[in-house]
Amino acid sequence: MDLPVEEWRAHVHRRWRQLPSSAQAALRTSALREVLRHCSSLLQPEDEGFLQRLAEGFSVEKDPDACLLYKEEGNKAFLRKAYQAAAGLYSKGASHARPNTQEMALCFANRSAAFFHLAQYETCLEDIGRAQRHGYPERLRPKLMLRKAECLVALGRQQEAALAVRDLEQSGAAQQASTGAPDLQALQRRLSHLKARVREDTGPGEAPPLSVSHASEEVGPRAKNERIPGTSLSVSLRSDPSRGRYLIATEDVFPGELLVKEEAFVSVLNPGETAGLRRGLEAQRDGRATPGDCHCHRCLKPIVATVPCEGCSYAKYCSQQCLQVAWERYHRVECPLGGTLLTLGVFCHVALRTVLLAGFEAVSNLIKTVQGTVSSEAASVPDGQPPGQKLNTRPNLAESSPHGGASGVPIPGCDRDGSYQSSYYAVFHLLPHTKKHSPEHKFLCGLSIVALCRKLGEADWPPRAQGPSAQEAALTTERTPEPSVWAEAMLRHVLQLHCNAQGVTALQEAGSEGDLVTECQQVRLATGLFPAISLMNHSCRPNTSLSFRGSVGSVHASQLIARGQEILHCYGPHEGRMDAATRQQKLRSQYFFDCRCQACQEEEVHGAGVTPKQGGFRCPTCRAALQGLDPLGCSSGSCRAQVSRAHLLGQLGDLQQRVEMAGELLRGDRTARAVQLLLACRREAEDFLTSEHVLMGEIEDRLAQAYASLGDWPKSAAHLQNSLQVVKAQHGPASVEMGHELFKLAQVLFNGFAVTEAVSVIEKAEKVLSLHYGPENEQVQELQQMKACLRELPSHPGEPTA
Ligand SMILES: [Zn+2]
Ligand SMILES: [Zn+2]
Ligand SMILES: [Zn+2]
Ligand SMILES: [Zn+2]
Repeated sequence: MDLPVEEWRAHVHRRWRQLPSSAQAALRTSALREVLRHCSSLLQPEDEGFLQRLAEGFSVEKDPDACLLYKEEGNKAFLRKAYQAAAGLYSKGASHARPNTQEMALCFANRSAAFFHLAQYETCLEDIGRAQRHGYPERLRPKLMLRKAECLVALGRQQEAALAVRDLEQSGAAQQASTGAPDLQALQRRLSHLKARVREDTGPGEAPPLSVSHASEEVGPRAKNERIPGTSLSVSLRSDPSRGRYLIATEDVFPGELLVKEEAFVSVLNPGETAGLRRGLEAQRDGRATPGDCHCHRCLKPIVATVPCEGCSYAKYCSQQCLQVAWERYHRVECPLGGTLLTLGVFCHVALRTVLLAGFEAVSNLIKTVQGTVSSEAASVPDGQPPGQKLNTRPNLAESSPHGGASGVPIPGCDRDGSYQSSYYAVFHLLPHTKKHSPEHKFLCGLSIVALCRKLGEADWPPRAQGPSAQEAALTTERTPEPSVWAEAMLRHVLQLHCNAQGVTALQEAGSEGDLVTECQQVRLATGLFPAISLMNHSCRPNTSLSFRGSVGSVHASQLIARGQEILHCYGPHEGRMDAATRQQKLRSQYFFDCRCQACQEEEVHGAGVTPKQGGFRCPTCRAALQGLDPLGCSSGSCRAQVSRAHLLGQLGDLQQRVEMAGELLRGDRTARAVQLLLACRREAEDFLTSEHVLMGEIEDRLAQAYASLGDWPKSAAHLQNSLQVVKAQHGPASVEMGHELFKLAQVLFNGFAVTEAVSVIEKAEKVLSLHYGPENEQVQELQQMKACLRELPSHPGEPTA
């Protein structure tokens, strides 16, 4: 999804292999302008045609048939009383409807009915307004007005309700003669009923119904650091030749302290399974929601009722405001390019949006600085500088600033007064590592950017508002030997993203609607650039946790960080999830460095594979732990058993497959069968795996899930206790994984009314999760609500304990 689609990559690979070696050699250059000049002369009309055909395979255009189909599916779900599903289907229908048409109005009106049944009255009112604005048919109006009045009554807005009822009566009288009115008699019965309710209710109005609780707006770091926007005063920027730029703690930082809170400079929503967007595929029609359907394409917040772009079926927003801001800042350029952007991948899309957000002036000034001061932009980057570190071409005059490097060397990316800029200036100075990318990769990126710029040229871009110089620059794009500044900046950003892209994640509920225990998983929602967060270096054993709320990233200390210690976060390869060799390989290929973090150094000393973090094997004879590499020998002195590694791995693989199968059964609601299979798996696992083995934990966790769906809370809790032990051994008692497992246990105990135990587990979960995510986190808030709810219960001495 980051890179272009497979077919385009394969096409460019074929083109690369056909290039004469002289052309291939020319692309070894690290000067981006040179790369673009070559790519520009190499991109043929056949290539553009091929890309165009691929782009046409992604449907981002509005399709009236799809609109009708989704609306009908929505109606079916509505009749089944599956209102949440119906709302989702109407949303999909609306995204395919053209603005100001009856179809659009009907999708919104029907969706308002679904929200009405979900008791989401505010959202229902908004949708009624949308239906009216898009031309809801006059003959159906009374039905809609009645729903509006009912919402107002439910919200306790009596005066508005009374007005709505009066309007309704007047228009109802006018409708009397009309034949097309929907079931007029039933309507009138409901109307008189409603009138009675409005009259009855003369008091101050009932309390509005509980809607999804909105956590209080997050507060920033304790004290703001003026020099590095978004960071706390306990943080300072340093730089040295071996580590490049990095952050340290200027005072002791306690676990849970908020260190950085930063809004993405740019972020682009991950399209998810692009297969689902391919034209003609069944997947497009099945109504499954992708992250792009339930999160705002601008602010990334979860959406209840989407507001679709009026030009395409792809972009959706949480509000009219987000739609407008997105349109003005970037989507008016992106909208007609929908299919091309999906074909070229998220990195190209982020690169385009970055320059659109920065604006022509900022982009061209920085590109000119680079061109003017150094002939090859990488010439000033010292070789061997660690990745993620950024170069500055503008001299930094603040050598005596407290943020100066230890050696007095100015810190790249800081402006004249020594402050780090969380702006395009900082983004621009993230390192593109042009020397380290292979020539073929540069060819792929360069060709993609040149093709994108030509499409932009066709679309008469940039918009005229940006003045003649901007237009001149863009219209000379690529056909002439001078690549435009836009192209050069975009190529730079695509290459930077390789090392500096930050995945924006969100917790998504994996279970189905109505599950009492939510099974959450981290999903990658978007890709963005965060100038302050990207100042942190990597460690496979980080001392911070990174979490997101929409497009805002927060870094909390996950342990005590002593004054002077480096603040570290994990780029992905974490010691709890991967062995050292896999981590090193990943870091080398993506980030171009060898990790020397504490975890990696320890594993180097003790040797890999002796004490696997994932848990070990047991002796088949005496059940003591096995040790050694191959064959493994029994650790008990009296036993001489030996087992080959291949045998154990085979057995483990078989068992893993059956655990997977049980997962399938659970998802297919064949719970009893799943329990049988899992219990059998557990018996087998006990024979050859230690009790801390990761697969053992997985079996226990699935058993807990199965019993929870059967409503057997005590059994579910017992299995979760077992899986907690595994998680604790593997990730540590204060780990975020522990927090998630405790959260599940809290839900199970809560549902089972095991009050005392539940409160104690809730408190533990709250402590661990707020340490990693801060007190405003949704799960933390939910735990607090659960606790409040339990405290209100009269205590029963004879309560069942799980
Ligand atoms: Zn939004
Ligand atoms: Zn659009
Ligand atoms: Zn490491
Ligand atoms: Zn033994």
